[in-house]
Amino acid sequence: MPSIDHLGIAVKSLAEARGFYERLGLEIVGEETVEHEGVRLAMVPLGESRIELLEALAEETPIGRFLAKRGEGLHHIAIRVEDLAGTVERLKAKGTRLISDEIKVGAGGHLYVFVHPSAAGGVLLELCEDPPQGV
Ligand code: ZN
Repeated sequence: MPSIDHLGIAVKSLAEARGFYERLGLEIVGEETVEHEGVRLAMVPLGESRIELLEALAEETPIGRFLAKRGEGLHHIAIRVEDLAGTVERLKAKGTRLISDEIKVGAGGHLYVFVHPSAAGGVLLELCEDPPQGV
């Protein structure tokens, strides 16, 4: 079922952000590095959804540039879809601007693409799909 998979929040320090969410009594899971995005991240499960905490590995990365320009804050919204490839095809057929034309593999093995904010009401929108079963 489509749902909000997660809200991505850019933070200067993952360790400090973890401490804050732990003080709220929340669990933090799945800390990992995604080299091709230049990011270290951790997830805060909240019911069916999650908060994704994003720390830049370097200044010249998408999150590093975001932090330099805008400071900490909400970076993107991720919607889980059932047929990501089909969804991307429909968007491309209508000329929707994507950040990258290719579906990528991210944290936890899930598949994702980013839709450019100019096509999504000013919001950086991630579309994602759960990892294929049995992998
Ligand atoms: Zn995300």
